[in-house]
Amino acid sequence: MRLINAFKFIADSNVGKLSKWLRMMGYDTLFFNGGDDSLMIATALAERRILLTRDTRIMKRRVITSGQLEAILVRSDKPELQMQQVIDTLNLDCSFRPFTICLECNQPLIERSKQQVKDLVPPYVFQTQNQYMECPACHRIYWRGTHWQAMNKNVEKFIRSCQ
Ligand SMILES: [Zn+2]
Repeated sequence: MRLINAFKFIADSNVGKLSKWLRMMGYDTLFFNGGDDSLMIATALAERRILLTRDTRIMKRRVITSGQLEAILVRSDKPELQMQQVIDTLNLDCSFRPFTICLECNQPLIERSKQQVKDLVPPYVFQTQNQYMECPACHRIYWRGTHWQAMNKNVEKFIRSCQ
């Protein structure tokens, strides 16, 4: 049996929002923004990522039909239902480690102290928030403000649905 936290994904350009939601839950998810399908498949194989796509032609490739590469054909065009399908198919642990990955770059976030972000966040945020995370790639600072809470509602919905 595979460890739950061993799941890594590569999302096709047609399931962009799904890739963000998986990142939100802490799953390492590469977003393949168009280009050559063969490159996407090669990357998935090399990095042992599960391929997520809405493209039925890709699912017919021998590398997938033979089981060499694991892939999920995403059925719905609604992110909520897409997420539910991935959760159900892989029996994902929804409380895995939410908000540990940059939603934009898929990099693991690093904890920052309040003093470290003093000049990087708006004054009202600095006054009211105590927990901060920074992306080492894009240097975005994340905090548990309103944006985080709005996202958290979505994640919480899934945590409930998995239990
Ligand atoms: Zn980033």
